[in-house]
Amino acid sequence: MLDFNQQATALLRRFYGYNSFRPLQLDIIATAAVERRDSVVLMPTGGGKSLCYQIPALLADRGVTIVVSPLIALMKDQVTALASNGIPAAAVNSMQSEEENRSILEQLYKGRVKLLYISPERLLMEIDRWSSDLPVTLFAIDEAHCISQWGHDFRPGYTQLARIKELYPSVPVMALTATADRLTREDISTQLRLSNPKLFIGSFDRPNLSLKVITDPGKTQRVNYICSLIDRYPSDSGIVYCLSRKMAEEMDRQLTAKGYSSTVYHAGLSVTERNLAQDRFINGDVQAVCATIAFGMGIDKSNIRWVVHNNMPRNIESYYQEIGRAGRDGTKAETVMFYSYGDIAMLQNFVDESGQKSINNEKLNRMKEYAEASLCRRRILLSYFNETMDHDCGNCDVCLNPPERIDGTILVQKALSAIVRINGGAGINMLIDILRGASRQDLIQKGYHLIKTYGVGHDLSFGEWNTYVSQMIQLGLIDIAYNEGNHLKITPYGADILRNRTTVMLAKFTPFEKRKPRRGGKAATEERELNPAERLMETLKEVRQKLARKEQVPPYIIFTDKALLEMVRVEPVSMDDFSKVEGVGERKTVKYWKPFVTAIRRHKGLATTFGTGLSHEETLLLLNSGYDIPAIAEAKGIKAATVYSHIATLISQDRLTDFSSVITREQYLRVMEVAGEHPDTLYDILTPEMPDGLVRVALAMSDYMLRQKANMK
Ligand code: ADP
Ligand code: ZN
Repeated sequence: MLDFNQQATALLRRFYGYNSFRPLQLDIIATAAVERRDSVVLMPTGGGKSLCYQIPALLADRGVTIVVSPLIALMKDQVTALASNGIPAAAVNSMQSEEENRSILEQLYKGRVKLLYISPERLLMEIDRWSSDLPVTLFAIDEAHCISQWGHDFRPGYTQLARIKELYPSVPVMALTATADRLTREDISTQLRLSNPKLFIGSFDRPNLSLKVITDPGKTQRVNYICSLIDRYPSDSGIVYCLSRKMAEEMDRQLTAKGYSSTVYHAGLSVTERNLAQDRFINGDVQAVCATIAFGMGIDKSNIRWVVHNNMPRNIESYYQEIGRAGRDGTKAETVMFYSYGDIAMLQNFVDESGQKSINNEKLNRMKEYAEASLCRRRILLSYFNETMDHDCGNCDVCLNPPERIDGTILVQKALSAIVRINGGAGINMLIDILRGASRQDLIQKGYHLIKTYGVGHDLSFGEWNTYVSQMIQLGLIDIAYNEGNHLKITPYGADILRNRTTVMLAKFTPFEKRKPRRGGKAATEERELNPAERLMETLKEVRQKLARKEQVPPYIIFTDKALLEMVRVEPVSMDDFSKVEGVGERKTVKYWKPFVTAIRRHKGLATTFGTGLSHEETLLLLNSGYDIPAIAEAKGIKAATVYSHIATLISQDRLTDFSSVITREQYLRVMEVAGEHPDTLYDILTPEMPDGLVRVALAMSDYMLRQKANMK
């Protein structure tokens, strides 16, 4: 008998192709499947929550696991992903026809569905009818923070879910979420009426995401930066988050004009347009989507390689959720946030108009502190989520490029004295234009070109001045009057510095790589010299893309980038090797080994026709994983008769000793009978009666048994 741990690990290997659980996963699974106790699971996006309720579903002999989720758009994807791993799952929701929903619910009663995804509203419609006779293994409540008014995505449908515990008091409930503060957490447990739930808090650390904040370098530089990201990951995609629809459209236009394939997504588009944009993104047909925060809920794409915040988000929760969409497959991904005072002004307006002004104001301040920090950014983030980290991360801009300090006294004096001379009558852009001696019409009209400091800073670029003035604000030398058109005012501290000519140190402006934007978008890959591993990766991605098109599923449903990277590392050259790659389960081995192994063999300069010996191995592997003869023939694209001949050979080599799945007792006895009576016309007599090749199998079996007997003597 396997113990629980071995059993769960075997399922993980078989269905998902993973070798080990991540921290907490096994405990969470045991709590639901063995203790049958309620739980609240807090893990970041990409932390691996889904497995926590899927494995208990697989462990149960009978019964269905009900997954309540508000993300209807995501359900189809999840069901497809499960099916591609050989797990029977289904979804019931308002996006499908009533007929479809009904037939799925019928399947449920027949025990054909292991996991059912359902919206809270629909569950409440069905659950009273179920309670008498539908065996339920587990209820998983995904995005459980939606139950709480404290949370940020409150859904009224969730508040009625206590009904679950009323009707199914002894079935465990697992509530899962990626964002919940203590208050929300308690709310989840009370509102669902969980009984003594076990609380699991996973680490919010996502070490594969790099973090970077850039103080507004100006429009052109922003676009160039985004282009450089696309160039780094030409065959992958990323998201540019913008604060407004207009900004998203503008960004999309600029990227498109530079020859990149980009699309736009915001709530102002029609449903059809939005779906199209989302599909193109998911299927890997565009390199970038320029979007408002409306984009992302319901996106499960695991190979998003970068996320850019063109504007600062309104709080750290949103920021973390949005950057968290990158790199869900666990491999390297880059996140960058551009930060400007213009954004703060706009966000401040949102806060002032919002219902919960003081909370939101506090949250905005924390966001601002993060953006302005000169400490390891990951430490700040994790401490925001009440997690401590005792070392710097080494993967954020502060860790990688500790800012070089310069004596900024002169710069400060120039800026401060300009502000004094114009009597605090300008915002940041106008101030910089004055310092740089620009001839803007409104500047001239106001007479600002006549002041003594006009043009004294012409030696610095706009971006440089922007960084320095921002730092002056951070240091408290300048204040922004948000209620006065964002005009800059000198603070008493600033006035003091100006009067006493005190030394001020500033962080030196370091321009990021100025890359020439490339024409031709995707074609850019060919221009760059790829190393062999990169070349193989690109090839495998093409193989994946082809299969995805054929099956009409997103590429990451076939394999995640992480699994492809493993293939590049391991270079499997046979089906057996392939089946051992991390991320390749049994179902996918059978379905996909050939195109991938062929590509890898070609890459290595090996023959791409598979020898007959190899073919026998595969038949054996498939038999051992429970495939019957027609399924093996189909998986391998050969005739059933050939499969039987492999089996006969395997038997004669003593390599196959369990025949139950190959031949029935009656068939075997029949062959023996005819072989005894009419040995010469054996094949003629039996051909109409049984599949081609089976006779040979029976004869091989008979030989095998004779050998066994001889050995025993
Ligand atoms: P969440 O639901 O918490 O956002 P997912 O369940 O979608 O996260 O998991 C994120 C990714 O991590 C998926 O690609 C998933 O297959 C992978 N994953 C989960 N558990 C493991 C594991 N034990 N080993 C390797 N990969 C895992
Ligand atoms: Zn760091």
